[in-house]
Amino acid sequence: MIELKRDTAEIFVPDGMPLPAALARTTHMAIGAHQDDLEIMAIDGILSCFQREDRWFSGVLVTDGSGAPRDGLYRNYTDEAMRRVRAKEQKKAALVGEYAAQVLLDYPSAAVKDGATPDPVQDIAQLLTVARPAIVYTHNLADEHDTHVGVALRVVAAIRGLPETARPSRLYGCEVWRDLDWLVDRDKVAFDCSAHKSLQRALLGVFDSQICGGKRYDLASMGRRRANATYHATHEADAVSGMTFAMDLTPLMQDGAMSIPDYVQAFMDRFARDVQARLARLSPPRSFD
Ligand SMILES: [Zn+2]
Repeated sequence: MIELKRDTAEIFVPDGMPLPAALARTTHMAIGAHQDDLEIMAIDGILSCFQREDRWFSGVLVTDGSGAPRDGLYRNYTDEAMRRVRAKEQKKAALVGEYAAQVLLDYPSAAVKDGATPDPVQDIAQLLTVARPAIVYTHNLADEHDTHVGVALRVVAAIRGLPETARPSRLYGCEVWRDLDWLVDRDKVAFDCSAHKSLQRALLGVFDSQICGGKRYDLASMGRRRANATYHATHEADAVSGMTFAMDLTPLMQDGAMSIPDYVQAFMDRFARDVQARLARLSPPRSFD
């Protein structure tokens, strides 16, 4: 029995398999803040499981989406109407992407930004315990959206609270608000997402209320995947036509004592050293001044 904290929380199973079995078949899980974040950041997980009997993708969204900007058809929608539209869009994505399950935890975003509220961590821990995914995707810790970073921190906390044998084997922090092109190459986890481009576009396209809000997340996300593939140093552009990057958060998940700010700082330090070393190597000697 899965008991989530919010009365309005929902678990949608596209193929109708009963719970908890529907969730227990999960191999890849993405945990994000908002409706559409998973389809932007965790396409690797969705594609890895698409049309497979041995791998299943489950999505978990922490917030209710009610605070989203709105325009066009949705201009006069109340926050409650917006919440319902976004939940409906997320379920459409779950159908299109053949997810094992789509969980909507339905928290106001304030609950995620408030580090003192334990409920989201407990819900996430319970879902991880039932689903036992091998791979978990969440937001990266250098994202510039407070709610995204709040969710990523809750995910790390939830996994750290699990017995070691119940933890996933990998935890990846993915791109939404701020890409990860700045990571030095050896720090990049690069996912090839060249396949099923029309499916990728469909998954991004169902979020009509967001796109109508004046932001072409669909075009931008496909463009970012293309740009990542072409500008990634170690790949032939012809061989890979779409790529997403992630920050490996696995060490943070495995070692509960490791400082999260220090871990993220080390990525930034390696980036800074890379830039400075190139400048030092290519600058003319001082004696020519
Ligand atoms: Zn988001």
